[in-house]
Amino acid sequence: MASNIYATKCPCCGRSAIEDYYYKTQEQYTFCMRCGYYYSKTIEKYTKDDIEYKEEKSEGHGMFTLVNKDGSRKRVILDCSPTNTQLEELKAKFMDNNVNQERSYLVTYENGVFTILFGDPPDNFHLSFEEYRKKMFAKYGVPDYEFMVPIEE
Ligand SMILES: [Zn+2]
Repeated sequence: MASNIYATKCPCCGRSAIEDYYYKTQEQYTFCMRCGYYYSKTIEKYTKDDIEYKEEKSEGHGMFTLVNKDGSRKRVILDCSPTNTQLEELKAKFMDNNVNQERSYLVTYENGVFTILFGDPPDNFHLSFEEYRKKMFAKYGVPDYEFMVPIEE
């Protein structure tokens, strides 16, 4: 598919999100690995002389990233702040024997504030999009077009 996938500034938390843009159809997916913000614009239907799009959007409330010892990973987007019961469940998953605790983490995002509940997010997690972009350009070189920001966890 003719798509462009780059890092972009998350409209919710201002850190680095992933944007997948299909320039031919103008469909778009944005997903923030930091706060869990999600946006999609997809073609709903083709009418006689137009295209109708469907938009879905969800504000970020946090993210649970589980990395297993075999390298497989699972991401759970939090739709709202977890209740105590949910926290216990997430913690139990986090403490599982198959889980690599050093690479897994649970972060909530409420009212513009990130709270790390357990684990240790990667360095890039903490950077604003501008800082992240600077770091990526320094590491990989400045791309032909400014928007072509590499994606790194
Ligand atoms: Zn975000």
